[in-house]
Amino acid sequence: MSDQLERMKAIVAQAIAEAECHHRGVRLATVHLIVYGETAEEALRRLFEKASRGSPAEGARLIIERATSRYICWNCCGLRFESGDGVCPNCGELALEVPPDISFALQRVEVAGAF
Ligand SMILES: [Zn+2]
Repeated sequence: MSDQLERMKAIVAQAIAEAECHHRGVRLATVHLIVYGETAEEALRRLFEKASRGSPAEGARLIIERATSRYICWNCCGLRFESGDGVCPNCGELALEVPPDISFALQRVEVAGAF
């Protein structure tokens, strides 16, 4: 469980860094998570709450999306797809499979008051 908390802290830090890259000093409105494993939604929300406490991500809405596939093509900017052989249907490159120890990752982030 503490490993998962460490991972969630890294994701919160990544989300904040991503938001501040575009808008300095903003608060995060929504954090989109992509979940690969069976991790329960409630557990993820608790982790996020703990990991974001006292940070600009505190109180942000957490959107949890279940990944349908563990394949990601970095050639196509992180396109996710279903495949038996791991070949990207878009560009034909061999895609990467998300390692089994990665159970969730940052999908994208929305900031408050941004336009
Ligand atoms: Zn591709």
